[in-house]
Amino acid sequence: MMDNKGQKYYKGNISLESLEGWFDGVDLKDARIKLCGVLGDPMINPECADIVSYLVYEKRVRYIEMSTNGGTRPLSFWKELADISSASDGTFVVHFSLDGVKTNDYREGVNVKKVWENFTHYVESQGHAIWQFILFDYNKHEVQEAREIAEMMGVKFYVRKSWRNTADKSPFKLTGTDLDHWDTIEEKTRSGNYEKTDIKCRHKAENELFITSNGQLWPCCHLHDEQVSGKTDILTKVGLHNDLTTSSFHDILSSSWYKNLLEESWDRNHPLHLPRCYLSCGDNGKRQTQFL
Ligand code: SF4
Repeated sequence: MMDNKGQKYYKGNISLESLEGWFDGVDLKDARIKLCGVLGDPMINPECADIVSYLVYEKRVRYIEMSTNGGTRPLSFWKELADISSASDGTFVVHFSLDGVKTNDYREGVNVKKVWENFTHYVESQGHAIWQFILFDYNKHEVQEAREIAEMMGVKFYVRKSWRNTADKSPFKLTGTDLDHWDTIEEKTRSGNYEKTDIKCRHKAENELFITSNGQLWPCCHLHDEQVSGKTDILTKVGLHNDLTTSSFHDILSSSWYKNLLEESWDRNHPLHLPRCYLSCGDNGKRQTQFL
């Protein structure tokens, strides 16, 4: 979508060498790490298996999940990941994002047959897996069949419901739900037509952090999305320096914005208030993604 709009953004992979530098001196033993391609897919990183090995065996991370559409790489790659997962005793789990059984329309250009080959090969090679199924109008009728197949394969099955898919302009829709309507809340947010924010912040409540492929450290994926999609230049607005290539992990987190200002700015009248905090986490977090 951003390419179509001509928006520039960094396209590149996290290298193992970079990651080792960013996490130097950072204790990750109690961390839960999610490798997810907000602007890509972790499976296409040429060092993917090496990075997973580093997190499992060297950093001894408590839980690592990798979210992927599973649509490429040879079977030998999926066997390599399965071997790491099996040896990790479930510390490393792959989430296959497959939104349908025979259909997979949301994953445009992804070959469903290839996903099934990779998914089954990984599971038959003893890799720990979760099947994540995002609910849309086009695939509602396949949920029960998918649940039964997952049970036969011995993998957990999660249905994900997201309010973003209620947007009028969304080509893949979820209608007939009690979720807030995207366009109504977006309009209300961007026009500042709210007083109470009632923020339920994932960053503060769960210590969530989000690291981009070019080494920016954000509190969450929402604020990164706001920046990279060009909606708000947060780096300039709040004077945030979050570059792990020039500052250490702990130094960035001890900045005044991370320590105090972010939370203070949830007040609608604060000069550094970020409407995106209200949009994604306001009204007591009622718009956060639900898993059924
Ligand atoms: S958008 Fe704001 S309130 Fe929500 S998790 Fe991120 S920092 Fe917290």
